[in-house]
Amino acid sequence: MPQNHEYTDKSYKTPRLLLWVLIFMVTTMAGCSSERADDISAPDPVQKLISSLTLNPSATVSAVLPSTTSTPPTTPSITATTSSSPITVTPSITASITPSISASPTTSMPSIPPTASTPPITIAPSITPTASAPPVTQGPNAGYLIAIDPGHQGRGNSEQEPIGPGADESKAKVASGTQGVSTKVPEYELTLLVAFRLRDQLTARGYQVIMIRESHDVDISNRERAERATEAGADILVRLHANGSESSDAAGITTLCPSAGNPYIPHLYEPSRTLSESVQAALITATAARDRGITEADNMSGINWATIPVTIVEMGFMTNQTEDELMQTEDYQQKLVEGMANGIDEYFALASEKASSAEALLKGYPF
Ligand SMILES: [Zn+2]
Repeated sequence: MPQNHEYTDKSYKTPRLLLWVLIFMVTTMAGCSSERADDISAPDPVQKLISSLTLNPSATVSAVLPSTTSTPPTTPSITATTSSSPITVTPSITASITPSISASPTTSMPSIPPTASTPPITIAPSITPTASAPPVTQGPNAGYLIAIDPGHQGRGNSEQEPIGPGADESKAKVASGTQGVSTKVPEYELTLLVAFRLRDQLTARGYQVIMIRESHDVDISNRERAERATEAGADILVRLHANGSESSDAAGITTLCPSAGNPYIPHLYEPSRTLSESVQAALITATAARDRGITEADNMSGINWATIPVTIVEMGFMTNQTEDELMQTEDYQQKLVEGMANGIDEYFALASEKASSAEALLKGYPF
């Protein structure tokens, strides 16, 4: 008997002993089939085969065993050839094999393909648009998220908060800000107006932008403003303010950053200084305002609570009549936002250079 009888579809002659084994199998399988499918019972041809073999000892029997590997699958059968007509028992075996083959697809098999094939169909579309679309459509700046904090709000909040993590010193959560000496426009209105323009300018250049506030009717402390920028995953925090002085002659633009000795965020000094210098230089170029340079300050809550490079832009003096009126014009506001955006462009260009240089050094490139 061939070793691979379970898989062959060849007919072969069987010795008498095996003949009975085959008959036993046929009847047993027919019996099994009735357990799997109630509407299938042992057919008459089995009995006919047994009778035929019993009555005709000289009968020869050939068998075709089922094969699941051939295409199409072989239908099993046992054929007893006697002096009369051959008797082929196919139904009983077919009845027992077919349910066992078709039972698995209808029970366990179908439950696997849906779960295995459905996820790739649903996951692929949901990943592809979010992963590939932004870089292709928004350009190189799309990877940067800029937090814009329009200084102050409709009503100040004099409640105190620490000026930095672990600080003993505290300050008002939000000061009320200054006001235009000529236009009477409050600082919080000017900062929000310019912030909207800056947002549009940066968005047009492909940056992503988060606004810390978009209305005057909010109550967000300086600490909370810095924390919101962190929570949003921003790369830099740009805080917009306008200056005030007892001297009406005071004028010009300045930007603020922490000092190298800042006790809270000394590691942010260098990038914050670079950001401030880039923005300051570009602002002066764009507006031709008086250059008051960079001011390093360590008592600003909105700086000390930052976890990303931060700068405060003092766009001009609202206590100076000329600058107060100038800052209310659309033309000058546009110069301000273009200057700030140019400075931000410059900052990221410098940061990118430093990053690639550091990477090159790590790779051992000579300089
Ligand atoms: Zn202010």
